Amino acid sequence: MMKILDLVVGPLQVNCYVVYDEKSSEAAIVDPGDDVIGILRLLEEKSLTPKLIVCTHGHFDHVGGVREVKAETGASIVLHGDDLGIYEKAQEQAAAWGFSVERPPSPDIIVAEGDQVRIGDCEMVVMHTPGHSPGSICLLHRDILFSGDTVFAGSIGRTDFSGGSLQAMKLSFRRIIGLPGETRLFPGHGPTSTVAKERETNFFVHEL
Ligand SMILES: [Zn+2]
Ligand SMILES: [Zn+2]
Repeated sequence: MMKILDLVVGPLQVNCYVVYDEKSSEAAIVDPGDDVIGILRLLEEKSLTPKLIVCTHGHFDHVGGVREVKAETGASIVLHGDDLGIYEKAQEQAAAWGFSVERPPSPDIIVAEGDQVRIGDCEMVVMHTPGHSPGSICLLHRDILFSGDTVFAGSIGRTDFSGGSLQAMKLSFRRIIGLPGETRLFPGHGPTSTVAKERETNFFVHEL
């Protein structure tokens, strides 16, 4: 069974999820944007074996801690190929916002739509959901969706950054609200939600 721990990290308050398979204790760290000490402490407290560092996209607030987490754990970095350019410029992006992050090392696993990544017995399917960035992904495991900066509770990620697209966001959003209503959303910022709740309350439903 998949367990999910949430840490809010960095100045832009990213949800970093430490996700693990209860049986094998293998873990994935989704979006280690900052607070590497907190992430490592959590891994140690739960005696987890970190296998994957999953980046839902390449923005600096989601990848700022990748270099250090990789150095400390040796876990494999997962990224969609279409966000490689943005990911490689994380340092420059951060500087433009007045922050500083370490340049993330090259990803180990480049994923695309339909690929699966696995921790122990828990496999997560990659959904390519461009719009906020060209290589944004969501990860689906049964009724759990890590929705990155694509869908938040009540809203969506900005589409006006470099590589963003409102048209692509519409398609990605439609796919997500087309998932079963009981699907639980774990977004990149803010509180959790469900697909059913977003169909009812998300403002973007009216923009499609
Ligand atoms: Zn973002
Ligand atoms: Zn973000």
